[in-house]
Amino acid sequence: MTLNLNNLNKSIINCNKCSRLIEFRKKILKNKRKQFKDEKYWGRPITGFGDINGKILFVGLAPAAHGGTRTGRVFTGDKSSEFLYKCLFKANISNQNTSEHVNDGLKLNNAFITAALKCVPPQDKPEKKELMNCFNFFQKEIYLLKKLKIIVALGKVAFDTCLEFYKKYYKFDKKYKFTHGKIYNLPKGVRLVGCYHPSPRNVNTGRINETKMTNLFKKIKQIN
Ligand code: SF4
Repeated sequence: MTLNLNNLNKSIINCNKCSRLIEFRKKILKNKRKQFKDEKYWGRPITGFGDINGKILFVGLAPAAHGGTRTGRVFTGDKSSEFLYKCLFKANISNQNTSEHVNDGLKLNNAFITAALKCVPPQDKPEKKELMNCFNFFQKEIYLLKKLKIIVALGKVAFDTCLEFYKKYYKFDKKYKFTHGKIYNLPKGVRLVGCYHPSPRNVNTGRINETKMTNLFKKIKQIN
């Protein structure tokens, strides 16, 4: 079967390789957040989203328990996505400044967004074997992104995970240090840039703000 985004997404959604993560998801579905208690949670692995012909790939570590795992779309329906999309919209990478649910009309321009691990792990900490299992999907997404020029890793853990991925699949052995805004070279002419995660903690402590993040997004758009 020829690989395309549709059949890749089907295999992601139906994957049940990591039993610990499946058990954890069951717990989330049993203990919904109060404000979402009447909602049906998606409760399955999360696929990537956006323009597969885009040159920019945004990568988070994993979907959020009550964000992506609830809504069924990566970076959707939580505080991190609220902040992220304000910046993506200002940089003209998204057509709207919110990402609330799968039918909200959101589109990305020249960009795709995914998580290196497609299922939410306990305490946001995947085990190595879970990452290795899921890299198989991440690798296929990268393969399908034929025009990929730049990977924006959202947070240090996502940044280190991208390096781990390139180590495994491309025998890449450079050690790069996560620094917000610094651009590094990866194999096949792809660049990697670290970007603070758009989490409430980073926003509330002032580590990141809309101007800083938007300016970085505008800068990466210029990369060819
Ligand atoms: S994390 Fe990835 S490999 Fe593991 S169950 Fe979820 S989709 Fe499958």
